[in-house]
Amino acid sequence: MTARLDTLLVHAGALHPRPEGAVVTPIFRSANYEAGEEGAADEVRYVRYSNTPNHRVLGARLAAAEGGEAGLVTASGMAAISATLMSALSAGDHLLCQSGVYGGTTSLMLRHLPRWGIEVTFVDLDAPETWAAALRPRTRMFYAESVSNPHMRVGALDKVVSFCQAQGLTSVIDNTFLSPALFQPLPFGFDVVVHSATKLLNGHSDLSAGAIIADAARVEAARRTLNHLGGSLDPDACGMLERGLKTLTLRAQRQSASALTLAHRLRVHPKVRRVFTPGLPDDPGYDRASAWFRGAGPCLSVELRDLPTAMGLVGGVKVFTHAASLGGVESLIVRPARSTHAHFTPEERAALGVTDTLARLSVGVEDVEDLWDDLAAALG
Ligand SMILES: *Cc1c(COP(=O)(O)O)cnc(C)c1O
Repeated sequence: MTARLDTLLVHAGALHPRPEGAVVTPIFRSANYEAGEEGAADEVRYVRYSNTPNHRVLGARLAAAEGGEAGLVTASGMAAISATLMSALSAGDHLLCQSGVYGGTTSLMLRHLPRWGIEVTFVDLDAPETWAAALRPRTRMFYAESVSNPHMRVGALDKVVSFCQAQGLTSVIDNTFLSPALFQPLPFGFDVVVHSATKLLNGHSDLSAGAIIADAARVEAARRTLNHLGGSLDPDACGMLERGLKTLTLRAQRQSASALTLAHRLRVHPKVRRVFTPGLPDDPGYDRASAWFRGAGPCLSVELRDLPTAMGLVGGVKVFTHAASLGGVESLIVRPARSTHAHFTPEERAALGVTDTLARLSVGVEDVEDLWDDLAAALG
């Protein structure tokens, strides 16, 4: 299909002919499938092998949306990330990773990969001149995120792509904070895109899922690894994720626009010290985001004047919910120091710039004036 993104999100990969004429992909709630002809080389079809009709439709749809050759859905974002790393890396290999990536990813790289003989070096995504010194003879991969949490930084992603092409590394990017509605890393030059589909892709905070999109060989390698790691997505969740994806652009555009409106107003609020989003012209990521993205995404962070203000905001909101996670239709707010970054020591948090007075917002699709009234009232 040579259609455009919004059409692909609704139709790409759909079953033909439609089973029983069904307009929506039916959920095939069968764990196992009848075998092919005796002696045929066809692979057994089984939910854990991620090769049932619902898996194949979703994989094709996500591939089309990200502009990739193939796609694979998984049981969580971490299942997608672990399958990607473990299918591409072996004992003795080394990878470069943007410092400050998602906590679960950081833990996987620091606590688990070394036990299997895979070493990681964390690098500053804004200091490309330091990357070459971190290379080793068996450096295989560079892992980055399209927008970092909680300061919403946009790194030198163009330099990551050119560095990986020059050095023969596989470039992997976690595109959870933007989704293909706002940024497509594969046409940009990355080799592999991973997602927590729990967030913006599904958009309704009612399931756990992940995704890998890349060329067919890499996706097939990840699928064969996932077959044995066991993180396949249940067909019911496939059906729900397929439904969520159809409205991705509508949600992502609206959420980005509302987040930017709130950012402009928070920026001049007397109780706010600083607002972090690459959507604001005075943010260091503004030029990159303007050139590469179609919106800054649903998230922004605010540095409040003092701790009582930060606690009053998070505890006083009524339309926003005080909860972690992001990208859903409902607005959420957390203090990263007490949630996403609670497992770091105070010194580590200080090094990352995660203060006790920082709050992160994920803006949903509610009326932006109600969201603003809510924040303004809680700020007092
Ligand atoms: C939430 C998240 C993950 C992990 O996804 P799960 O679906 O919770 O496993 C990975 N990367 C980013 C950027 C995330 O926000």
